Amino acid sequence: MIEEIRNNLFRTEIPLPNSPLKSLNSYIIKGEDRNLIIDTGLNRKECLDAMHSGLKELDIDLEKTDLFITHLHADHFGLVSKLATESTKVYFNRPDSEIIESWDGWDTMIEYGGQNGFPRNELQSALSSHPGHKFGSEWTPELSILQEGDRIDVGDYHFTCVETPGHSLGHMCLYEPAAKILVAGDHILIDITPNIQCWSDDQNPLADYLDSLDKVSKLDIELVLTGHRRLVTDYKGRIKELKDHHHRRLDEIISILGDSAMSAYEIASKMSWDINCENWEEFPMAQKWFATGEAISHVRYLEENKRLKRRIENDVVIFSNAA
Ligand SMILES: [Zn+2]
Repeated sequence: MIEEIRNNLFRTEIPLPNSPLKSLNSYIIKGEDRNLIIDTGLNRKECLDAMHSGLKELDIDLEKTDLFITHLHADHFGLVSKLATESTKVYFNRPDSEIIESWDGWDTMIEYGGQNGFPRNELQSALSSHPGHKFGSEWTPELSILQEGDRIDVGDYHFTCVETPGHSLGHMCLYEPAAKILVAGDHILIDITPNIQCWSDDQNPLADYLDSLDKVSKLDIELVLTGHRRLVTDYKGRIKELKDHHHRRLDEIISILGDSAMSAYEIASKMSWDINCENWEEFPMAQKWFATGEAISHVRYLEENKRLKRRIENDVVIFSNAA
């Protein structure tokens, strides 16, 4: 189903079967010489069929179309290899492209999950149920790297790149000042909160994310084109809700820990999650993995703010309140 949001700017919903996200919003802009597709869907048949039917309805020729991908996650990047032609420019950011280029399999992430208390005998099954593992792009075309302030012109639209790290290391939004539109990827979502995960002790993605929210709140925006679910008009209100949400989560972790010490995995199992499961044991494996990554990002933030301290016990990192 195609919806024209603004003149020559369309949204098509790409289904994400079995995902709590339900679908991806892919945006298609028709230009005179070149068109632009923003975000693509998982590398699976259901997504490709939906994309092809949208492109057909709009009479879009892929030979005359470029791609902009907000970040590396498979539900956004997965179909790139199926859509790119010889002449396609694939616009992308540097930090996420370096992750793709230096990808040494999932071993580093798996090891880090184990260090953070994810049961080592469940790691392999967590990996095999990960959507990035099952539905990622099978190869990466040459990428045209963009950075802060770079421009993409398509039809009547003149987008400026806005770096918004947090949801991924290199997440990038597009801002159209005349139309007052922000293409937000997974930086701002409504009904669900963007997942902020951490898989390295060198990083503090939650701090990056909160900074990126402040950065975007300074722009003049009428409409936020989100990567999933509904579009957002009251972006300042939504940004405040997202910031409050994370500060509540930080406080929740402090009170879960109390006087005890726990791994990030154990903390995740005690946090409140907006998911249709009675208890932690019922969580699907992939959701346990995402929840643990989310717990780690909050724990890392608290640790950097000197509110938590760590020690190692039996090869697992254990956190406790610093005060
Ligand atoms: Zn994402």
